Amino acid sequence: MNVYDSARMADVLAVIGYGACESAEDADLVILNTCHIREKAAEKVYSELGRLDRMRRARRRAGRDMLIAVAGCVAQAEGTEVARRAPGVDLVVGPQTYHHLPRMLAQTREAKARGAKATVIDTEFPADDKFAHLGDVAGRRGASAFLTVQEGCDRFCSFCVVPYTRGTEFSRRLPEIEAEARHLVASGAVEITLLGQNVNAYHGIGENGEPGSLAQLMRRLDEIDGLARLRYTTSHPADMSDDLIAAHGEIASLMPFLHLPVQSGSDRVLRAMNRRHKAGDYLRIVERLRAARPDLALSSDFIVGFPGESDADFEATLALVRAVGFAQAYSFKYSPRPGTPAAERADQVPEPIKAERLARLQAELDGQQRRFNIACLGRVVPVLFDRPGRQPAQVLGRSPYMQAVHMDMPDDRAARACMGRVIDVELTEALANSLSARPVDTREAGL
Ligand code: SAH
Ligand code: SF4
Repeated sequence: MNVYDSARMADVLAVIGYGACESAEDADLVILNTCHIREKAAEKVYSELGRLDRMRRARRRAGRDMLIAVAGCVAQAEGTEVARRAPGVDLVVGPQTYHHLPRMLAQTREAKARGAKATVIDTEFPADDKFAHLGDVAGRRGASAFLTVQEGCDRFCSFCVVPYTRGTEFSRRLPEIEAEARHLVASGAVEITLLGQNVNAYHGIGENGEPGSLAQLMRRLDEIDGLARLRYTTSHPADMSDDLIAAHGEIASLMPFLHLPVQSGSDRVLRAMNRRHKAGDYLRIVERLRAARPDLALSSDFIVGFPGESDADFEATLALVRAVGFAQAYSFKYSPRPGTPAAERADQVPEPIKAERLARLQAELDGQQRRFNIACLGRVVPVLFDRPGRQPAQVLGRSPYMQAVHMDMPDDRAARACMGRVIDVELTEALANSLSARPVDTREAGL
C-alpha cells in the first residue's frame, strides 16, 4: 500500500510542478514513506534521515536546498517524536492526510521565508475523504498496478499497530474504484492488485446506495477490456465469505494465488492474538478454496515467538504449514509494538528462542517453495513481463502463481518487445527465489 500511496503523492505533487528524479541527491523534496509494522522497519527511518541530512548539507554547500518529509505510518504513530528525534525534518504527514501536501509545502516555504524553524505536522484522521481530494490517477503506473479499495482495520489483533496508524475500516465506493481501474488500464495496466489492510472486509457503496462485496467488485472489474489479471491482498481468514471463495472458481481474470495470513497454527496463540478463528477453520477455508480453484497457490504470514508461545504451540504452527503446503510465505519474529496489548505481556519469548523457531519455520517454508517451483518445471504458463531483469536483454515478470520469472532474450529489442505483455513461456529452471523460462512461440514473443 505504501507503493500505491507514494504514487498518489507523486500525482498530487505533479499538480504543483514536482516531477520524479532518479536519485535523492538531485531532489528538491525527499519524502520517506515509512512502515511501522515492526520495530526494525520503524528504526530504519531514523538512520535514513541521518543519511538524507548529510546529503542535504552537501546540496546546501552547492547552493541548493532540499526539503525532507516523513510520511506513512511512522509519521502517523510518532508525529512530534519524529520532529524531536530528527529536527531537520520539514514535514510530517500521515497516511490519511497526504492530499494536504501542497498546502503543507506552502506553509513550510512560508515559515522558511520568515526564518522560522518549525516542522509542519499533519497526522489527523480528517473528516474529508482523501480519495475525493486526490482526484484521478495521473502518472503512468506500468503493466502491473496497485489500487487501494479499502483502508484501515477494526479487527485489533493484539500484536498489530495497523488499527492505530491507518484508522478504522473504510471502503471506497464501487463506481470510484471502477473509474480508477479503467483509468489504469487505459494507461497501460494489464494487471491490477486490489489493496486493503483487510481487503476482503470490503463493503463499498454502489450506485444503488447498497454496499457491495469484494467478489461483486471483482466481477465488475473483470468486465473491463484489456484487464487480463486481478489479484487482491491482504485478507483475513475470518472474512473469507462464501461468495469470495466461489469467485476463485468463477472470475476468469482472478489469478490462482491467494495471500491469506494465518500467523500461527496454535488455537491457544490464535485466541491470544485475537484472530477470531481456529487453525481448523483455516484448514477448512483452504479446502474450500482448493475445491473452487484446484490449482490455487497459497501464501501466508507467520509470527513466531508471540508472548506465551510454547514449544507445543510452535509445533502446531509447523503442523499447519505441513498440512497446507504453501507456494511462498513471509515469517517474522514477534516485535512488540507500542500501544498494542501483546506488548504489555510479561511472558515475552526470549530472543534466542524466537531466532531458533524462525529458522526452523523458514527452513520448512523454503523447502515448500522450492518443491512448488520444481513441480512447475516443464509447464507452460502465461507470464506478465513488466520490468527489465538484472542481466542485459533479460526480462522479469510474474507467473499466475506469483512466482518471479525471468527470461533471457537475444537482444534489447526483443526484451523491450516483451514489456507489458502476457506471454506463454515454458518454465525451465528453478532457482532459490525465481524461475527461468523460455518462450514457447517465438513469433508470439515478437522474435
Ligand atoms: N491485515 C493482514 C496483515 C497486515 S500486517 C492480516 O490480518 O493478516 C502484515 C503482517 O505483518 C502480518 O500478517 C503479520 O504477520 C506481521 N506483523 C504485524 N504485526 C507484527 C508484529 N508486531 N510483530 C511481527 N510481525 C507482525
Ligand atoms: Fe492488523 Fe491484519 Fe489484524 Fe487488522 S486484521 S489488526 S491489519 S493483523
